[in-house]
Amino acid sequence: MINYTERISLLMEDIVARVPALSFIDMSRVLVFARAGRTDAEGAYATCHCICLPPSEPGYYFWRDRASGTLTRRSEWFVTKSPAVSIGATPVEYMISVALPRFCDQLLSRSRKQVHYAGRPNWIGKLDTIVHELYHIDPERPGIRRMEKADGTYAANCHGHRFLEDVVDMVNQYLSSSPDPAIYDFLEWDLDEMTRRFGGVAATTFRSFPSYPQRYTEVLDPQPAAPEGIICRVEPLKVPRVKSHFTDDDLVMREFLAQTSRQLIRKGKFCAA
Ligand SMILES: [Zn+2]
Repeated sequence: MINYTERISLLMEDIVARVPALSFIDMSRVLVFARAGRTDAEGAYATCHCICLPPSEPGYYFWRDRASGTLTRRSEWFVTKSPAVSIGATPVEYMISVALPRFCDQLLSRSRKQVHYAGRPNWIGKLDTIVHELYHIDPERPGIRRMEKADGTYAANCHGHRFLEDVVDMVNQYLSSSPDPAIYDFLEWDLDEMTRRFGGVAATTFRSFPSYPQRYTEVLDPQPAAPEGIICRVEPLKVPRVKSHFTDDDLVMREFLAQTSRQLIRKGKFCAA
C-alpha cells in the first residue's frame, strides 16, 4: 500500500527546501495526518491546524439582567489551551490534515483554481493545496499567517486574492526548480489508480479517528478572585474531559476506501524481537 501522508510529508520537505518563502518551515515540527472526506461530499481538501498557540487569557461567561443590565451570574474562570502533540522527543507545532479520498480525487477542472492553471493537468490542483496549507504557517509568531491589506490593516480572513496568487507563484517556482518527479508523481493518481498500483491507500491518523487533537477549555484551579466590582453567583463550568497530550502511540495507520476507512493492524507489533 502507498503511505499517502508520508508521501505528502516528503513532498513538503522538498517544497520548503526549494521555495525560499517557505524555507523557515521546520518539517520535523509539522505532522501530516488524514481525516475522513468523501469525494462526493462538500468540504475542504486539507486544513492547517496551529497547535503552538499559548493558552488564552483567563475569561468567564456572564449573564445580564435584561432590564437593568447588571450581571446576575457568571461562570468560573477558564482558559483555552492547545493540545500537546510530540513525535519522539520533538514537539509538533502545526498539523496539516488531508481529507481522504477527497484530496486525491480533486479535479482542477471543477475548481476555482482553474483560472490560474489553464491547460495544466489535474494534479497541479493538489500541489496548489499542499503549498496553500504550508503558506498558512506564520513565519513571525506562533499561529496562522495574517494577510496584510494595502492599507496596512489585516484582512478579516486569512486568505484574500494575494494569498491565492502567492500560492500560484510558489507552485510555479517549485516546478521550475527541477524537482525529482519521483517526489511528486503520486499526485497524478486518484484513489482508483493508486489502489490498482499499490493495492490500497494508507495514511497516518489518530487512534481516536475521526477525532483529532483540538484546542480545549480548562477551568482554572485555583480560581482567581472575582472580577473587580462584580459580585454575583458563580456557576460551575462543565467542560468535557479531553485528552490533552498525544505521542506516536496515538497514531495508527488506516486504509482509505471510496466510502469508508479501516484501521490497519501493524504486523509484528506484538512479536518478541
Ligand atoms: Zn486556506
